[in-house]
Parts: sequence; C-alpha cells; structure tokens
Amino acid sequence: MDSDVEQEAKRRNGLNPEIATSATTRKIHTAGSFIGGRWSVSRADNVSTNPAHPSQVVGRYQVSTAEEVDYAVDTARSAWREWCMVNSIERGRVIRRAAILLEKRAEEIARLITLEEGKTLPEARSEVLRTIETFHYHAGRAWAPTGKTYASSMPDEDVRTVRFPVGVVAVISPWNFPVLTPAWKIAPALVHGNTVVWKPASLTPIVAAELVRILEQAGVPAGVLNLVLGSGRVGQQIVDHPGVDAITFTGSTQVGQGIWNSATPRGVKVQLELGGHNAAIVFPDADLDHAAKTVVAGAMLSAGQKCTATRRIIALSEVHDELAERIRTEAERLVVGDGLIEGVDVSPLVSRSALEEVKGEIDRACQEGAELLAGGEVLEGAEYDGGHYLAPTVFVVKDPKIRLCREEVFGPVTAIMEASDDEEAFELANATRFGLCAAVFTASERRTRRAVAELEAGMININTSTTGSELHVPFGGVKASSSQAPREQGETAEEFFTESKTVYLVPGD
Ligand code: NAP
Ligand code: MG
Repeated sequence: MDSDVEQEAKRRNGLNPEIATSATTRKIHTAGSFIGGRWSVSRADNVSTNPAHPSQVVGRYQVSTAEEVDYAVDTARSAWREWCMVNSIERGRVIRRAAILLEKRAEEIARLITLEEGKTLPEARSEVLRTIETFHYHAGRAWAPTGKTYASSMPDEDVRTVRFPVGVVAVISPWNFPVLTPAWKIAPALVHGNTVVWKPASLTPIVAAELVRILEQAGVPAGVLNLVLGSGRVGQQIVDHPGVDAITFTGSTQVGQGIWNSATPRGVKVQLELGGHNAAIVFPDADLDHAAKTVVAGAMLSAGQKCTATRRIIALSEVHDELAERIRTEAERLVVGDGLIEGVDVSPLVSRSALEEVKGEIDRACQEGAELLAGGEVLEGAEYDGGHYLAPTVFVVKDPKIRLCREEVFGPVTAIMEASDDEEAFELANATRFGLCAAVFTASERRTRRAVAELEAGMININTSTTGSELHVPFGGVKASSSQAPREQGETAEEFFTESKTVYLVPGD
C-alpha cells in the first residue's frame, strides 16, 4: 500500500492509484465479425489493452478469417437490393433510433473509448455527443430534397436527376476517433441506401463492436452493416474485393495512397481523409494570450493524435520570442496522466509502438538542430504504470526543411518557426505536401482575407484552433490530405454515397 504522500503525489501527476488495481473487477468485452446479423466471438483470443495501464485487458476479440471477409462483402451485396428499396425516411428512422440508444449508453461508451484508445474522459464524452448529433443530422438528411428538375426542349417531357445509392461501401477507419469517424461514414452510407462492410482499426475493436451492437439494436437489417476485425491485411482484402463499389477511408497518407492506386483503376469510388501538417500563423496584431493557449491546446490535446492538430506555429519576428515563452509556459502547465482522472489534460499515446515512433522523431529533430523548448521525454516510473506517456513537446526550429516540419508526427509535438514578414509566413505555412487545415491569429481584415485566399488547406481557421470542426459542413483537405472526391460531412456526403441518374420522361398514355 502506498503512503498518503505517494497517493497524493500520484493524484497531482494525474495518475489514479485505484485504477491499476481495479482491472480484475472490470467487465471484459468481446468482439468479432458481425456478418449477416450474426456474431463470431467463440475464438476471441486477441486482447485489446488500456494505453494508460497496458497490462489491463479492455476486451478480447476474434480476427476475421479471409473467408469471413469474402462472406461479409457477399452478404452486403445480397442485402443491398432490398435495403436500397426501403424509402429513405424509413432508413433515417433507423439511424435516429441509433442516436437515441447511443445517448442512453453515452457515459458507458465514453468510458470505453477512454479505456481502449486512451483519450481523456471529457474528450471521449464530446466524441460520443458528436456521434449522437451526427446520427441525428444524417437521419434528418433523409427528409432533405434530392435531385433536380430541369427544362426540356421536347414537348410533354420531364427532365430530372435522381440520386441512387452506390452499392456496397467499405468503411476503413483509424483508432483516434474510434466512434465518430466511422459514424461520419456509416450513417450517410446507410441513410442513402448503401450497405456497409466496416473494418475498424485493430487497436479499437471493442468499442467498434459496441457501436455495431447499437446499430443492430436500432433495427439495421441483417447484412446491411457488417463488421470485420483485423489488421491491414483484412483492410487490403476488402479493398481488392471485386464486390466493393466504394471505399471511404480515414488514416495515414501512405495507406490511403495505396488504396487509391489499387482501387480507382477498377472504377471503385474512393474517398480518402489522410494526414495533415497544419500550421498556425501568429501575426503581431493578434491577441497573444489567446493565440498561445489555442495553439497549445490544438497541438497537445488528445495527445496530439488528431489529423487536425497544430503541428507548426509560425510567429512573425516581432512576437516570436514572447509567443514562444507563453507557449512553453502553457505546455508545461498541462497535466499528463490516465484519461479517466479528472483534471488530466494530456492522455497516453495509443500504443507502445506509437510512443516509440514519436520519441524517435523527437530524437531525430534534436539531431537535425531543432531546439527543445519543453518536454521531449517519455514519462516512466512506477507511478506511470507502464502507460505510453510523453511529455508535451515544443521545439523552436530554424531550418523549416527538417523532417519534423515536413512529415506528420502523430503525438503531442509542435514546432515554432519564425517568419520575417507576411510573405514568408504564408510561404512557410504552404511549404508542405499536406493541406488539411491552417489557422491565422490576427485582428487585421486584410490578413484574414489573404489567409482565406492563399492558404492551401481545405479548412481555414481565423483566430480559432485548427482542430475545431462542425459536423454539418464539409470536412476535408487539399493536396496530399484528401482525395479528389466529394468531402465528408454535411450536404456533400450525399454526393459520395449516391450516384446521379438523369431521367427523360415522356408519359406513355
Ligand atoms: P493507418 O495506419 O493508415 O490505418 C487506418 C486504417 O487502415 C486502419 O483500420 C488500418 O488497420 C487500415 N489499414 C492499414 N493498412 C491497410 C491496407 N494496406 N489496406 C487497407 N487498410 C489498411 O492510420 P493510423 O495510423 O491508424 O491513423 C493515424 C493516421 O490517420 C494519421 O496519419 C492521421 O493524420 C490520419 N487521420 C486523418 C484524418 C482525416 O480526417 N484527415 C482523421 C483522423 C486520422 P490497422 O489498424 O489494423 O493498421
Ligand atoms: Mg498505422
């Protein structure tokens, strides 16, 4: 038993002394393939663990066999004929029931997200809330007008367009928003009359299975939504399957490009949401306090494991040193610890290999001349219980060509760079192959207009974080951050999940 002093020290470090010991009393979930309305969990011998306490098993899951993956696609294809004929309002009702069921289980699912992915409980709660709203939004879209009516050059003829579902949609999703990202895809896919084969990230199979259980209970018919579990091998098999009509993928640029190269030549519709290297420019006329707090939150929350995280901060020379100092103070104030503990700001990274990869990039940045302003170290010792913790890390970088400023480091790591004038600031912000989000902090309308016009990004944030996004407006990037497909979310979702048919109609009687 720890002394009171040790217990208090753990609390202040954001570590709950009770958590590690309560593992044995926790419910162990099971997950496996869900195909044609049936679960396969009898051989669930893989474990999913808690990033804050890696010896704690969150659940057991069964990897899908190659036969099951084929069967899932075939099942989705057979179920499609009937599902696409169900009217969209009825399909919307099913998704609305899922929203209601999820709301009833919101706290339980949020805790499961924290246990399996690691993010803090408030972050997990907000992910669940956004998922509920996403379901409501897409359920409501079932009532929206669709198609258009046109003039005809012929007498007695109607010309109009109607939207028709694409068919079987493969959903391949990452672990960092294990419920919200798949909901962005599954909800519009189903409302618009497609059937789905979903492969979640192999680090978050347990919470994925719970989301499927909710959709099953909401009344999604057997075969309309199918779940397969496993690594990239399973994902690749789905991508290569001739029975898939469209693929919506969120994840790394490398995997996404591979999917594009193998699927688009076969005429498969592909939507990719990939990495980012998002910059925030801080001009001298900005509210520096607000800017410093916002960029640190944008860089460090969810342990920096967001595609929209603020990876580069470009400060004009007049404010560079003062901003850097404020950023250092803000970063060092953050409490790192188990995401279930109240008051923790920065959770562990999702896995040991993610931690090692990020630490490797930090060491490399140091070798390439970046100056460490805060953090940089892995947090170890008995009080961290082997969790994958990294101190929030801030670099000051003189050479923007180093790898840290070009390649995405998926952790709580950010780089401050200096620009001597506006011209250089915009050039630096655009000097990356990515183009997901970009922020500017300024009171100037002229600079705001220039930012909207010149920043090469799909989402522009003026005096707000790169990480903020709304679910009813298009989400996506330019350059290597997204594919040339309609954006996710909002009204553009319909464009991806349906095809247009033009109808010329002359009445037959
Ligand atoms: P990832 O390695 O690309 O994995 C994403 C998904 O693809 C996982 O389900 C993964 O399975 C699967 N996969 C892996 N190899 C595959 C293959 N050859 N064929 C088909 N599927 C395959 O990405 P991650 O490391 O999990 O996630 C982090 C990345 O996602 C970051 O780059 C981040 O920027 C990006 N991201 C982008 C957005 C956005 O909207 N732009 C949002 C969130 C995250 P396994 O899990 O089994 O490997
Ligand atoms: Mg990966």
